[in-house]
Amino acid sequence: MKLSGWGRYPTIDAQVTAPRSTDELANLVKEGSAIARGNGRAYGDSAVSPTNTIHMKHFNRMLAFDEESGQLVAEAGVLLADVIEAFLPRGWFPSVTPGTKFVTLGGMIAADVHGKNHHKDGSFGSYVDWIDIFTADGTVQRCSQTENTELFEWTIGGMGLTGVILRAAIRLRPVTSAWIEQTTLAADNITHAIELFENSLDATYSVAWIDCLQTGEELGRSLVMLGEHAQATSVPLRYRKQPFQMPAKRKLNIPVDVPGWVLNSFSVRAFNALYYWNGKRRPKRQIVDWDSYFYPLDSVLGWNKIYGPHGFAQFQCVIPLSQAEDGLTELLAAIASAGAGSFLAVLKRFGAQESRFSFPMEGYTLALDFPVNRKSLALMNELDSITLQHNGRFYLAKDSRMQRDVFLQSDRRAEDYSKYRRDESVSAAYSSAQSERLGL
Ligand SMILES: Cc1cc2nc3c(=O)[nH]c(=O)nc-3n(C[C@H](O)[C@H](O)[C@H](O)COP(=O)(O)OP(=O)(O)OC[C@H]3O[C@@H](n4cnc5c(N)ncnc54)[C@H](O)[C@@H]3O)c2cc1C
Repeated sequence: MKLSGWGRYPTIDAQVTAPRSTDELANLVKEGSAIARGNGRAYGDSAVSPTNTIHMKHFNRMLAFDEESGQLVAEAGVLLADVIEAFLPRGWFPSVTPGTKFVTLGGMIAADVHGKNHHKDGSFGSYVDWIDIFTADGTVQRCSQTENTELFEWTIGGMGLTGVILRAAIRLRPVTSAWIEQTTLAADNITHAIELFENSLDATYSVAWIDCLQTGEELGRSLVMLGEHAQATSVPLRYRKQPFQMPAKRKLNIPVDVPGWVLNSFSVRAFNALYYWNGKRRPKRQIVDWDSYFYPLDSVLGWNKIYGPHGFAQFQCVIPLSQAEDGLTELLAAIASAGAGSFLAVLKRFGAQESRFSFPMEGYTLALDFPVNRKSLALMNELDSITLQHNGRFYLAKDSRMQRDVFLQSDRRAEDYSKYRRDESVSAAYSSAQSERLGL
């Protein structure tokens, strides 16, 4: 079948199976070049193997929950949305969440996903107590900070290339309600945005949306949004007695590909200006429900069709703190001068993180979507070079088009990862279209 990631680019002819048991899985892994697939929310080709993609949708049971510690044991194919539905009414929420709830536990561990609280709480891997993994030699190994530590460390952020995660124990965080107190601050430009982030390191959540077509004094003008879990006493009156209850919501649906002309620099400019001025006018403090705060895009089903039939690619890099302002200024200037604005330009502050292979490092991460065409692919190559010049690196869960030499130059850890995969005889058993492209 034709298979792609969330960006619908590249589309690859792939052999896909969905085992129902560990025995079935074992037979598939024996065939080699296997890669596990969760819910296909990585943008590119990391969950695609042309010959052996293993869909984990049948490994979807929650197995145990400890009310004292918040530890959930669940199979890797469980969706985050189901975890929230089961546990938020009991006062628990994911410790770290990406911007969509339609991801699996296996996918979150393999990408070591980050949320809007990385500066304070780190990435998802910090809340994983142990993982059971189906390794290349056909055995199931439990790994953790104290057991099979090397396997554990390479698996978190290892993009499925150490084996198939079968189940894991993760920790949820206790919350006081299903609501978030949001504070919106308007930043005149990128320098101001960074200043607001640096002054808000105590905030639990922070993220900025950037109007990326602005230039000059207004380059990087943005809305910085801070968030805190609301106390039960401050949720809207009609929900105060049941602070974990959610208002019913409608979902929009984008059923067909939107023609390319809808998305051009004029429409993006108009959308961005409207969004910025609305945000600036909005009351500075608002109470919003968890779904709107964490997952605004999930309310538009199939929004990946908005970029038309050729799909879209995301560029996401992180620039170390000391070079962040210069690097971001250059990146934004290149985007604005190409006139290739994106509806979705997001900036986050990462805290310190030293791990084997995960994406985050202390600094600023910028993420933008572009429709796939010759012009934006050329622009993304330019953004790669600027990132390299500022010692940044790239997020593999978003990558669909990076060139091997750029990747290897950006991340010296890749060599060690390849060596580990060779030494443990993992490379032949597990590979993805992305790992082949990048030489991992
Ligand atoms: C709208 C949107 C917003 C996003 N926001 C963020 C964000 O804020 N922060 C962030 O960090 N990411 C974000 N992402 C990326 C997303 O969180 C990751 O790509 C995540 O890995 C997707 O999970 P999945 O279950 O869909 O995995 P897939 O896309 O199916 O797979 C992703 C990777 O995980 C591996 N994998 C999946 N299941 C297993 C398993 N059982 N065993 C071993 N490996 C496995 C795959 O091999 C692949 O390498 C976002 C994505 C979207 C679409």
